[in-house]
Amino acid sequence: MVAGLFLTFFFLELLIELTLNEKNISYVHRQWSGKEVPDLFRSKLGPEDFDKSGAYTLAKGRFQRWAELYSALVMLFVLFGGVLPLLEHYSQSLGGYLPPSTQATGILFCLATGFMLSALGLPTDLYSTFVIEERFGFNKTTLKLYLIDKIKALLLGVFIGIPFLFGVLWLMQAAGHLWWAWAFFFIFSFQFLIMIAYPTIIAPLFNKFEPLKEDKLTEQISALAHQVGLKTSGIFTMDGSRRSSHSNAYFTGMGKVKRIVLFDTLLKHLTTEQLLAVLAHEMGHYKMKHVRRMLVVSAVLLLLGLYILGLLLEYEPLFLTFGLETPSAHGALVLFALLSGPFTFYLNPLLNFISRKHEYEADRFAVEALKDGKPIEEALIQLTVKNLSNLTPHPWYSAYHYSHPSPAERIHAIRHNLSSLPRKGEDPTHLSPNS
Ligand SMILES: [Zn+2]
Repeated sequence: MVAGLFLTFFFLELLIELTLNEKNISYVHRQWSGKEVPDLFRSKLGPEDFDKSGAYTLAKGRFQRWAELYSALVMLFVLFGGVLPLLEHYSQSLGGYLPPSTQATGILFCLATGFMLSALGLPTDLYSTFVIEERFGFNKTTLKLYLIDKIKALLLGVFIGIPFLFGVLWLMQAAGHLWWAWAFFFIFSFQFLIMIAYPTIIAPLFNKFEPLKEDKLTEQISALAHQVGLKTSGIFTMDGSRRSSHSNAYFTGMGKVKRIVLFDTLLKHLTTEQLLAVLAHEMGHYKMKHVRRMLVVSAVLLLLGLYILGLLLEYEPLFLTFGLETPSAHGALVLFALLSGPFTFYLNPLLNFISRKHEYEADRFAVEALKDGKPIEEALIQLTVKNLSNLTPHPWYSAYHYSHPSPAERIHAIRHNLSSLPRKGEDPTHLSPNS
């Protein structure tokens, strides 16, 4: 029963993923091959780069077919190939030597499963970084740096994972009937702690952060932050170019340690005006409480997840199906993590819908803050071109996989917003009002 239900959803998800990918591939192929550069991008994107962007999207799509099948096989192998009972066996014999042994066994079991899954995910990760990204000139990481990153991430995972798992497993066992409510508070505070520690402790383990050197730009950014009423604890540049030539900017941290981070690649590709527009957009996410709202959404999902976990904990057939003889907190935790994907998959379009709405709102915020739509529009085009992003994703594919509207959709919306501001030039009447 358990296996049948899971496998039905599992193969359904796989089928949907593969279909969406195929649809996207043929859609992009049709929009791209032998066609002219779309109007919006013509001034920034030559025919050669247009060719390259199509080829990049298609190369990723074709690889995705195999990656999808491979990860499905990995999952089936871990769940049905006797992996879990084996890990359980070793965790128990090793955990017996470590006090308190119940939690020690649980922590070992969770970490071992996690480690196993990341190790099995390496082939696709390596191929995508060193073959596909490399072929299109994006990859800047070396095998050495790649390995060092993986080792650091592993150590960090163990370092953060041990206290985290100890807390959760202990609460599951000792906090009685309402353990899930306690676990909710524990996990939520833990997440908060990580968010606070991220900019100053975790991120610097992987990248170098330096206060922005250009005085004039710093001044302009601070003025913008001041104008929109946002407090930050500094503007930093990050050496993103060490690993990849894709570019980005973000805000990080909570409360007083809120940093603005600019990838060095972004500074290279954008003019000052465009950069300010990107930052105004990012500030928009904070000012319009998007970050806080998403925190609430994730809290609700967490609470719901823990409640379901509580039900699973008492359902013995679940454990037996996957070869675990005795129900345990750690068994339930790992099974929940492994099995939930095919069921939560259907939340993607909903979560993406919320996120897209936020993107439109942040764009609008930027337009209003700068009283101009040109810089954000140009920045979007420039970033799309530099990142060779998919110019024409299939609508269904993008609903499932894209948390951002396509650049064309965003630009249409920006022009539409702009029409409500006092403006000069360009006639917006040819744009559809609902985009
Ligand atoms: Zn955004």
